[in-house]
Amino acid sequence: MHSLYPWQTELWRKLGPRGISLGHALLLRGRKGLGKLAFASYLAKSRLCEGPSVKGEPCEVCSSCHWFEQGSHPDFRLVEPEAISAKPGLPGLSDDNAGGMLADTAPGDGIESATEGAATEPGGLKSRKKTGKQISVGQIRNLADFINTSTHRNGYRILLIHPAEAMNLSAANALLKSLEEPPTRTLFILVTHQPQHLLATIRSRCHQIAMPAPGATAAITWLRQQGAKNPEMCLASAGYAPLAALEFDDAGYLEQHRIFIRQISAPVNLSPIALAEEMQNSDLPTVVNWLQKWCYDLMSFRTTGKIRYHLDMPDAVESVALNIDPPSLACYIRTLIDTKQLANHPLNARLFLEEMLFSYAMALFPERSARID
Ligand SMILES: [Zn+2]
Repeated sequence: MHSLYPWQTELWRKLGPRGISLGHALLLRGRKGLGKLAFASYLAKSRLCEGPSVKGEPCEVCSSCHWFEQGSHPDFRLVEPEAISAKPGLPGLSDDNAGGMLADTAPGDGIESATEGAATEPGGLKSRKKTGKQISVGQIRNLADFINTSTHRNGYRILLIHPAEAMNLSAANALLKSLEEPPTRTLFILVTHQPQHLLATIRSRCHQIAMPAPGATAAITWLRQQGAKNPEMCLASAGYAPLAALEFDDAGYLEQHRIFIRQISAPVNLSPIALAEEMQNSDLPTVVNWLQKWCYDLMSFRTTGKIRYHLDMPDAVESVALNIDPPSLACYIRTLIDTKQLANHPLNARLFLEEMLFSYAMALFPERSARID
């Protein structure tokens, strides 16, 4: 099993040792691609371990650690949307970098993550199933038996809910009941990419922990150790989330991204119909997120001269940014937030992309759009 990422060791010192009380509910929050789920799993495993080290690290040899690795620990439950659980791999071992490449941006960027925590295949851009992205009330209610029966091992049980914002309202309310009257010797660990989408009443009943992110230099060093070929560029493209960057460092993914950016950065050649056709089998939230990041950079460059995501193409950013109308772009960026929501359930992928790209062309290059219409 994966242990801790280098940027998590300090947090581990504060939470890991067995003597430290974790209360009855933790909320680990932070953008995608930071390794939140891996940390939560490691924490759960260590708390269930029968012989942890003084620092709280799981021993890896006891039967509890063994069961955890097998995904069959009787005192542990992982609750995820079915779309994630259906992924190959053991429960508790998947990481929140799945889909992380789609991911997110630093707080305050004003761009939300393009996915809702569902899984994509690393490097792949296959469309996901439309169902099973939520955590249902049934899934939460099914936990009642688990919570109310006696534990099998050392009298401690752990529930890990990931991503917590995938709970629909009924599920969240059902969970709230358990949080309000916490069962004894039970720990809830909620992992969230978007805490603002959780009920305030749930947030307030959890001990909230902001998950750490490495600085750019440390992240690049780590990416290099993982064999990333373009660590600087991938880190920037992935919104400075290192695990997301690792997935970005994939030839097929980069090529798709390159094709897309090359087209939208050349208004003279942009053909919404042709590009929509070309991208129609891609994961749509990913494509929307690319466009969001591109627009973010145009605005950022225009207003501050800085580029955040497209560090490898300053000329393209500059040439487009200098020719746009900032209020129109600002308006378009706001509409992309709704577009992102629709991207999860489009009626027709090609038409969805066409409309998005026509709107983009209209917002940024109104004169040229008038000609082609
Ligand atoms: Zn152990």
